[in-house]
Formats: sequence, structure tokens, C-alpha cells
Amino acid sequence: MPWYKRLSLTTWIFIALALGVVAGIALQGNAEFATTYIKPLGTIFLNLIKMIVVPLVIFTMTAGVISLSDIKRVGAIGGKTIVYYLATTAFAIIIGLAMANILNVGGGYSLPAEELSYEAKEAPSFIDTIVNIFPSNVIQPMADATMLQVIVIALVFGFGIMAAGKKAQPVADLVNSMSEVCIKIMHGIICFAPFGVFGLITPVIASNGPDILLPLLKLIVVAYLAMILHMAVVYSGLVKILANVSPVRFFKDQMSAMVFAFASASSVGTLPVNMQCSKKLGVSNEVSSFVLPLGATINMDGTSIYMGVCSIFIAQVFGIDLTIGQQFTIVLTAVLASIGTAGVPGSGMIMLAMVLQSVGLPVEGIALVAGVDRILDMMRTTVNITGDQSCAVCVDAMERRKAERKAAKAA
Ligand code: ASP
Repeated sequence: MPWYKRLSLTTWIFIALALGVVAGIALQGNAEFATTYIKPLGTIFLNLIKMIVVPLVIFTMTAGVISLSDIKRVGAIGGKTIVYYLATTAFAIIIGLAMANILNVGGGYSLPAEELSYEAKEAPSFIDTIVNIFPSNVIQPMADATMLQVIVIALVFGFGIMAAGKKAQPVADLVNSMSEVCIKIMHGIICFAPFGVFGLITPVIASNGPDILLPLLKLIVVAYLAMILHMAVVYSGLVKILANVSPVRFFKDQMSAMVFAFASASSVGTLPVNMQCSKKLGVSNEVSSFVLPLGATINMDGTSIYMGVCSIFIAQVFGIDLTIGQQFTIVLTAVLASIGTAGVPGSGMIMLAMVLQSVGLPVEGIALVAGVDRILDMMRTTVNITGDQSCAVCVDAMERRKAERKAAKAA
């Protein structure tokens, strides 16, 4: 076998990331070249991924519901998933707030003399967020890739097929076979991931020179440290305790999705790669096809850490003291804001406005951090999708144990 075939896809993705960083550094000062000629490689790759992600979620999720053939089981998996997502997200913000306070994230940074301006978009109200989960037609959500609505459509049709029983057998067969087709197409596209990663990372490094990064280095370091700590402590601990999976194995098998998330800054774009890693980790299809798409849409631990760290940063820079009560409000609003954050690049920053407003911090503060948003986004997306995977591993292990207990009882 030639040497290049012996290397795994994960290794190739890593090599592409390293080459992209080197090329980006070499092209600093000439970012236009990177944006014009190298970025399209990444854009083509992301387009292909986006093309497959909606049919992939629709068919694998519907097939997952049909295969569960027991509404109670769908409820059990759904319940565990939601509890896991909410608990880890709340924990993430607390880690973010604690690290930002302890490391004094805004210390030493002085407000720039020029006028700051940031136009906050109106964040949807809580009620609107709930109402918007339910689509009024089946085509629009698929065309716009509104993932939460796509998930609802998949679930509703899955239940419909179950309810129709024998009469719907041809549809069930079609869904199962389409799900296989989508998975095969996804595997094919993912083989080109190294090119995509190279094309995505090079322009980012080329356009983020030291003059942009250095003034906010402390913010970047504190946010990255908090996110790494969250993964190392919370995810490692949970997969070990709840699923008896060694953290080393977990992160090794998860690596290609992490690198891809880092390069693309999109949870939804990373979904196909994450599903493939799930397989490596031995998670069953029914669990991964439900837990991962839902997580890519609502579970954003990295984004929550970012919201916590940035709130403290902005408060400190503007010389505003936040009380414990206000920090508690940040925990609550950041949980909601992170759920409302779409799994696409840059959406966390838009939702940060909602968190700042909840405790009366100046929304213009976002202008301070906007310059390095992409650098923060890469890491928060990496954490977001790793959190989804840790949930899939734990829920799958718990479901397996439950099935074993049931079988033992029946025997
Ligand atoms: N880019 C992130 C994601 O896709 C969301 C964010 O901007 O925080 O998970």
C-alpha cells in the first residue's frame, strides 16, 4: 500500500490543518490572495456538506424513530438528552464566569479612544423561540436548513409512519434505504475534508495577524483555557462515569470532528463528520441520529463559555461591577441564548447581545470582541460538537444498560 493510503483520514485532516496554518502565516499581509484563491476550496466543501446535511438528518432521524418502534423509548432518549444538554450548558457558563473572574480577563485592557458602535439585532423572545420550533410547512425549513424545524418534521413523519403500521411499510423501506444512500454520499464527501480544512483555515490565519490578535490575547487565552478545561473535566468525567469510555479513546476517536469544527466554525457543517466519529465510538445509529442533530442545533457549551467570558470582559473594561445576582442572571440568559444560537459561523456573537442586555451591560462592548470573533468561534464550535458527542456516548451506554437489565429480568 502506498504511504499516503496508510495514513488515516484524521491524520490527513491534521496535516491539512497544519499546512493551512503555515500557508496562512506565509500569506499574512496578502490575505486577499488567500481569500480569492484558497477560500473557494473550503466554500465548495462546505456547500457539499450543507447540501447533504438536510436529507441526511431527515432520513436518518426518521429511520431512527421508526427503528425504535416504541414511543416510550424515544421519550427516554429525548429526556436524557435534554437533561444532559441543559446541565452541561449551565456548567459551561459557570466555568466561563469563574475563569474570567479568577484570571481577571479584562485587566490591562484599555478602552479604545474611538467611538464604539454595535447595532444589536433584536433577539427573539422566549415565546417566539418556542413557537418557531414548529414549522408551518415542510419545504421552507428544508430549503433554509432551519435545523430545529427539520428535526420536528423528521420526528412527526417518523411517528406517522409508525402509526400507519403495515400500510406504511413501503415508505419505511424507502426511508431506510434513503438513509443508507445519504450516509454513503456523506462518506464520499468527507473523504475530501482535508482539502476543505485547508481551504477554510488558510484565509482565517492570513487575515488575523498579530496586530489584530495581540491586544485581545488575554481574552483569547482565558476563553480557550476555560473551554479546554470544560472538555478535559466535564466531558472526560461524564464519558468515564456514565459510559465507562476512557477519555483518551473518546478524544482520539472524536479528533477528526474536532479539527473539522475548528476549521469550519459550524456545528451544522460538522454534523456529518461528527456522525462518522459516533460510529467509531460504537454509538448506535438510533441514538446518534437523534442526539447529534439536536445537539448541533441547541447544545452549545463552547458558545455559553464564550458568553460568560465576554460578559465579564466587557464589564471589567467598562468598569462595571457585576453582583453575584447579576452573574446568576447571565447563567440563565446564556443557557437560553446558547439554545437559540444557530450552528453556523458567527451566530454566538449575535446572541451575546441578549446576554449583555439582560444585566444592563453596554451592547457596544461587542465591537471590542468582534475583531477576534472567528478565532473564538473556532474553539467554541469544537467544544459545541464535542459536547454533543459526549452526550451521544453517555445516552447510548445508559440505554444499552437498560436493555441488558430488561433482558436479564425477562430471562
Ligand atoms: N459557530 C458556532 C457553532 O456553529 C455557534 C457560535 O457562533 O457560537 O456551533
